[in-house]
Amino acid sequence: MRKKKNPVLEQLAVNAYAAGGKSIAKVEGKVVFVEGAVPGDVVDVRLSKNKKDWAEGKAIRFHAYSPERVTPFCEHFGICGGCKWQMLPYEKQLQYKQEEVEQQMKRIGKLNLPALMPIAGSAETTQYRNKLEFTFSSKKYFTEAEIATMEMPEEGPRGLPSIPALGFHVPGSFDKVIDIRQCHLQAEPSNAIRNQLREHALSQGYSFYDIRNHNGLLRNLMIRLCTTGDLMVNLVLGEEDKKAINGLMEFLRTSFPQISSLFYTVNRKFNDSLHDQSPVLYHGKAFAIEELGGKRFKVGPKSFFQTNTKQAEVLYSITKEFALLTGNEVVYDLYCGTGSIGIFVSDKAKKVIGVELIEEAIEDAKENVALNNIANAHFFAGDVAAVCHEEFFIEHGKPDVIITDPPRAGMHEKLVNQILAMRAPVVVYVSCNPATQARDLQLLGEAYEVTAIRPVDMFPHTHHIENVVQLKLKGNP
Ligand code: SAH
Repeated sequence: MRKKKNPVLEQLAVNAYAAGGKSIAKVEGKVVFVEGAVPGDVVDVRLSKNKKDWAEGKAIRFHAYSPERVTPFCEHFGICGGCKWQMLPYEKQLQYKQEEVEQQMKRIGKLNLPALMPIAGSAETTQYRNKLEFTFSSKKYFTEAEIATMEMPEEGPRGLPSIPALGFHVPGSFDKVIDIRQCHLQAEPSNAIRNQLREHALSQGYSFYDIRNHNGLLRNLMIRLCTTGDLMVNLVLGEEDKKAINGLMEFLRTSFPQISSLFYTVNRKFNDSLHDQSPVLYHGKAFAIEELGGKRFKVGPKSFFQTNTKQAEVLYSITKEFALLTGNEVVYDLYCGTGSIGIFVSDKAKKVIGVELIEEAIEDAKENVALNNIANAHFFAGDVAAVCHEEFFIEHGKPDVIITDPPRAGMHEKLVNQILAMRAPVVVYVSCNPATQARDLQLLGEAYEVTAIRPVDMFPHTHHIENVVQLKLKGNP
């Protein structure tokens, strides 16, 4: 039996932004969340969900375009998952992000909230990423527009040609890779490296990875460009072909002498994750140096570092300001990653204690402490909910300030209760998901008052939002 196609609602006037890239239209009292449209568009929407008082779907036909729209700057717009919001001017993106945080905070009806401070926009709206990861594929994914212009053979099989590609995944699909010619997210020589490597590989007849059959030589390409000028490249291969690998490494080394760390990694696993793989240093130094707020950070091929370095400095400055440090405080940096927030605030604290789940990140944090000759910051690996019990706080000092920067899921409730029990006078909550942050703030409201809120835009042209909240212990002078 053929599946019935989902219903289409016609001529919907989209009139507000909701969240996560979705906008809102209303039909007969029902709220419809629309993907792919912006306020001001008039669209037909194919529903994917249809409940009693709300529905969700995708814009499939445009009757009128919003006057807010601008022409996207990227040739890959519409298919690449990267900069999905370029049809809106940056000022509008900021306005909608500010409104989204405002809405999320308003949901916390029970708390008295201060007015939001204006969102801190990113000074650079293109070339702001320090790291990009590209994927090789034996079979390029063609857009409908590309297929429409193709000449199909009159006879014989009409399948699409197999052309290798190097670029990004189509959002949500593991096997569809689009060829990227120019990406605006990273400064040169990022595009030059990717494009020249692709040409070289094709001219030499090296195979591109086939994700369905799990074979092929060239698999992934990571490029990291630091604010210091350090340039790291890690080429990931699906086969250990020594001669080919050598040829590829020599090509990169001689074509791009500015590469300061050149790695290759052989990954024969079914997934692309490198956390359990061993990158091999072919040329240069084993790590890149990133600089943020006058501090230096060692970044290895597997290390995590905030992807927008300059805007991370803005985020950390707001965090530091909200922490109200005088130099006498014991500061906890929870979910600390490689310790960058703790290190950033360490010169205004008596002591910093960082906690993070990933052991390698804690090793990086310790290296970064040594690199910056910091004596008052200490880092511990473990699950925050398990590590941060009363004895831990007593052992390392009663917290004056707790900075917490959890992943999208927000804080574990056990940790929230521990923070409530520890009664640190100031808590600074840095979040990449205002919805879970709102939930946690509600719980913290038992003992804390929200005293400042400031959204930060780390990722222009995307729907991601970062939000920093300052909380003060109630009844504390
Ligand atoms: N504050 C850091 C990283 C924040 S990202 C920075 O600014 O760079 C969130 C971090 O939380 C990640 O490094 C992740 O590994 C860590 N994490 C996730 N769950 C955790 C848990 N249960 N306990 C400790 N750390 C956790």
